[in-house]
Amino acid sequence: MSKETHIQEKISVFWFRRDLRMEDNTGLARAISSGFPVLPLFIFDTQIIDELPADDARISFIYKQLQKVHEQLVAWDSSLHIFKGEPLTVWKELLSRYQIQAVYLNNDYEPYALKRDRELGELLKSHGISLHSFKDQVIFEKGEIVKEDGTPYTVFTPYKRKWLEKFQRPALLSGAGDPGDGFLKVSLAFPRIEALGFTPSNTEVLPYDLSILKDYARLRDFPGPDATSHLSTHLRFGTVSIRQIIARLGPGDEVFLSELIWREFFMQILFHFPQVVTENFKPRYKGIEWLNHAGDFELWCEGKTGYPLVDAGMRQLNATGYMHNRVRMVTAGFLCKHLLTDWRMGEAYFATKLLDYELSSNNGNWQWAAGTGCDAAPYFRIFNPMEQLKKFDPDLSYVKRWIPEYGTPKYPVPIVDHKHARDRALLSYKKAIQDYLPGG
Ligand code: FAD
Repeated sequence: MSKETHIQEKISVFWFRRDLRMEDNTGLARAISSGFPVLPLFIFDTQIIDELPADDARISFIYKQLQKVHEQLVAWDSSLHIFKGEPLTVWKELLSRYQIQAVYLNNDYEPYALKRDRELGELLKSHGISLHSFKDQVIFEKGEIVKEDGTPYTVFTPYKRKWLEKFQRPALLSGAGDPGDGFLKVSLAFPRIEALGFTPSNTEVLPYDLSILKDYARLRDFPGPDATSHLSTHLRFGTVSIRQIIARLGPGDEVFLSELIWREFFMQILFHFPQVVTENFKPRYKGIEWLNHAGDFELWCEGKTGYPLVDAGMRQLNATGYMHNRVRMVTAGFLCKHLLTDWRMGEAYFATKLLDYELSSNNGNWQWAAGTGCDAAPYFRIFNPMEQLKKFDPDLSYVKRWIPEYGTPKYPVPIVDHKHARDRALLSYKKAIQDYLPGG
């Protein structure tokens, strides 16, 4: 893909993954201080992207962000090296081309990423090259916030208490600043998106907005005013540093900080309990007899259940790749409880659509909604979607925005009766618990 000029020079490599920015990037700053010129690298991992459509909005977002990184590198007479392939194969090619002294990257806690990075470490070791990996996407990671006995927290409130106790603002937010010079001098053309095998998406990622903070605690649950930060996609791809965001919070922003702590809570849950990817966190729900009715699931996906808040949410998701948090809770609860559909089906659907799709948060929140997760809503707490509508979209502004035919005969009648569905779900969950044999 590139015209190489510095093959004999000893270099370090920094591998961008979910930290697509130059500013306050821990691993990148460490790479620069290694003393060797740094080759900045990005790999479109075919093991991940082969499952996505060529015009996936997340790929376009990544592409645009890489372009920004590349332009900043050009100012240092350097270039971003972009590859597409299976990461280990790409690394073998890099090892054959360059005199690599050390490799730098930031920690990623998903099971696939942990395995990939372990394999890279072994490959590099066999070449006598060191791998340096840093905490960057969270304030606290892995075993940093654990109980007195060293075991992980599985309930949010004590986790948050410990997180706040340990959080020393100036020390933890000092960050890595801007990288400065130290990049490998090389001039590469930035590839066109089509040359990478993708097509541009029409779906845009909105910029994040912290001006909402002053009214966040009051308005965050109301989807009509859309008064949340839209930070999630930026945090997901690391286009902004979590340290820089938290440094901007002041007294009075505790509710917002608490949401950011939920993000870290679910990340450490996934790290310590990787089985949650496929299993209920609470094994006693293993035996739930899901109906998994294909027709119901399709109507849910399309936003045609006849429950306005559910339908508005699904239509927002389908049209924009985003859904307000309150509505995510209602749509997810409705699928699991009212339609008695396995949370894994809903989770997978969200994963294909959400711009901010994040395994840990998506899985943690779906299991929360299903009642199967750690610190989940108890199974018998079943949202009434009509009551949720009255409470959180009282002027129907959100519903009318997403359902133009609302209030006309074209809008479907409810596909299921609330009381009937509620009783059915309660029975199913109760039976699963009664029939559960630990270890069985
Ligand atoms: P804000 O309200 O402005 O919150 C600020 C930040 O706090 C968010 O950007 C996010 O990083 C974090 N946050 C807020 N709520 C949560 C939460 N419940 N759990 C974890 N972190 C939170 N969030 C994702 O980032 N990726 C997902 O794939 C995802 N899937 C979800 C699935 C379901 C079923 C539910 C109920 C929630 C899910 N969430 C997910 C959490 C939450 O809905 C989004 O983070 C939030 O709506 C993003 O909008 P925002 O940035 O404007 O949020």
